[in-house]
Amino acid sequence: MPIDPVCKMEISIADAAASHDYQSETLYFCSLDCQRKFERDPGSYMDDMSDEERVAS
Ligand SMILES: [Zn+2]
Repeated sequence: MPIDPVCKMEISIADAAASHDYQSETLYFCSLDCQRKFERDPGSYMDDMSDEERVAS
């Protein structure tokens, strides 16, 4: 299951309110609000992710 990088919630792709391609991976968001926050500062959210998650996706 993809994880919303902003609120760290697991979301199914079918339920995702928004998606965003970032560094050749597709990220999914629970809401447009989370997507907007991510787009404002993508680096800060991606840095929170473990290396393991980065490799897995
Ligand atoms: Zn969210």
